Amino acid sequence: MTGPAVERLGRDVFLVTGTDVNWILLREVDDLTLIDGGYPGDLPAVESSVRTLGHRPQDVVATLVTHAHVDHLGAVNAFRARYGTPVHLHPLEVAHARREHLEQLAPRQVVANLWRPRVLPWALRVARAGAGRDVAAPHAEAFPTSGPLDLPGSPVPVWTGGHTSGHTAFHVPGAGAVVSGDSLVTGHALSPTTGPQLIAPWFNHGTDAEMREALDVLATLDADLLLPGHGPAHRGPVRAAVEAVRDGR
Ligand SMILES: [Zn+2]
Repeated sequence: MTGPAVERLGRDVFLVTGTDVNWILLREVDDLTLIDGGYPGDLPAVESSVRTLGHRPQDVVATLVTHAHVDHLGAVNAFRARYGTPVHLHPLEVAHARREHLEQLAPRQVVANLWRPRVLPWALRVARAGAGRDVAAPHAEAFPTSGPLDLPGSPVPVWTGGHTSGHTAFHVPGAGAVVSGDSLVTGHALSPTTGPQLIAPWFNHGTDAEMREALDVLATLDADLLLPGHGPAHRGPVRAAVEAVRDGR
């Protein structure tokens, strides 16, 4: 099996491309933080990406999740079951991860959008990766929401609710990077363009106004590397990326 694409974007920062979705690895000496975990079917790819760096899955000391949609939470619980890795989200996202409620499109809503360009091949591909499976992280716990987390890379949670209620980006000041999840992406299988953009609105649980407020928050972060949930890494001030989206450029 060939492993997923693992791109090194800083001394200890890696972006991995799974099934139409990314996850991030932050390294500190022998330990790793995993941010997001792809679809359920991406579990072997998550393990492979860790091994590509010369590490063992057991070296991942924690998994952070930007938000509890199936394409970001999919492999997280299985990874925990195998390696005991704790799973942390924003306090507003924990119940969603435990599936006490769901802020995600129902399969019938995807079906209702199959007429749109590019949706059918994407839907078939992600279905094979387990998009229709019920996933939950019953052991998910909240992380503290002020200041850097005591984890490899010292990521700082930045609440960017809108895509889901507890959606969180992670600022990595030491690397000058922002892991933006789905609050700001640079492409998507359903998008005809690449470059900073908002994800298709029918994926958002919240309103367009909430998505724009989340952009305002991202614009305050001092970073020149954007690591989104979908699309390639983007170099340049995150503030400028946000302005380009606001201006519709
Ligand atoms: Zn996503």
